[in-house]
Amino acid sequence: MDRDRILLTPGPLTTTLRTKLAMLKDWGSWDGDFNAVTASVRSRLLDIVHGQDTHVVVPLQGSGTFSVEAAVATVVPRDGHVLVPDNGAYCKRAAKLSQMMGRKATVMPVSEEQPVSPAEIEARLAADPTITHVILIHCETGTGVENPLAAVAAVCEKHGKGLIVDAMSSFAALPIDARKVRFDALIAASGKCLEGVPGMGFVFLRKAILDACAGNSQSLAMDLHDQHVYMGKTGQWRFTPPTHVVVALSEAIAQYVEEGGQPARLARYTDNYRTLVDGMAALGFVPFLKPEVQAPIIVTFHAPNHPNYDFKRFYEAAKARGFLLYPGKLTQVETFRVGCIGAIGRNEMQQAVNAVADTLKEMGIPNGKPAI
Ligand SMILES: *Cc1c(COP(=O)(O)O)cnc(C)c1O
Repeated sequence: MDRDRILLTPGPLTTTLRTKLAMLKDWGSWDGDFNAVTASVRSRLLDIVHGQDTHVVVPLQGSGTFSVEAAVATVVPRDGHVLVPDNGAYCKRAAKLSQMMGRKATVMPVSEEQPVSPAEIEARLAADPTITHVILIHCETGTGVENPLAAVAAVCEKHGKGLIVDAMSSFAALPIDARKVRFDALIAASGKCLEGVPGMGFVFLRKAILDACAGNSQSLAMDLHDQHVYMGKTGQWRFTPPTHVVVALSEAIAQYVEEGGQPARLARYTDNYRTLVDGMAALGFVPFLKPEVQAPIIVTFHAPNHPNYDFKRFYEAAKARGFLLYPGKLTQVETFRVGCIGAIGRNEMQQAVNAVADTLKEMGIPNGKPAI
């Protein structure tokens, strides 16, 4: 009865026992042993994006959004102007936090079913030379759509604009190579595809822009430049680090490397995705996105078109069978989401599909066919 539930959510997600066990020790934040863990985590994070020559990585306490906010505050000058292509909830959040920090933000609306268009971004940059930076959400977790990072980076480089990438739900699973794709800042977090526990983010900053970032941040706690300088001098975090989260991330990265790194992780998540989508299709469920624009990270499904359907009841019945689903984030259509990430494989995904089948039966819903 006290078996851990499988989290089919895009962070927090299911972690291995080995990662959880890493949190059973206390660490002193000033101590050399802990500083060595921080340094090792930073170095191995840089390896994942092949960024040792071009970038530094700066960790920050808090959930992923804290690091997005910190990246914008640190990289974008106070009189800067960001363009935010918007095809979902996390794009809207990035635009909102930029505005709240006093940066000018222009939102470029895009259909939620489509990736953002590099050509349209290029047209916007050409039309408005006051734009200094583009903020791109790599995998828009609100729907699961993958945005074309390499093509957008090429457009930004061509026009001499900065690029800030929210790669929160894609980093470590989808390929990102800093030697080929130019970005000023790229943000991810402990509790996503690296399969650590939540509690810290980290931002890759391009060395070439680092000095110009001094003094940009209007916030003390969110100043990644200051965090970087202080860490360089002392090996320590500026303020109390999330020690247990850091050591769990270190252990999670060790398992990531043992598994085979990014290609192996993407292969496992792709297998999870296929098992999920095929199993759900057999029950009549239809994904919101076309497969060609879908990242194998999180899948949005249309809700079944049946009077007995109610997400809360559906959720509780799946939970009673050991699986936590995720609500939809779309306003126009009724949907729910299922994550493919975390320390789970094909067996867990098949069991999740079985749990959904039993749930439908319990609710008296013959199949998952949507209204569309
Ligand atoms: C998870 C996530 C975030 C951060 O969300 P938090 O709730 O602050 O951890 C930001 N962007 C994307 C695309 C995400 O998937």
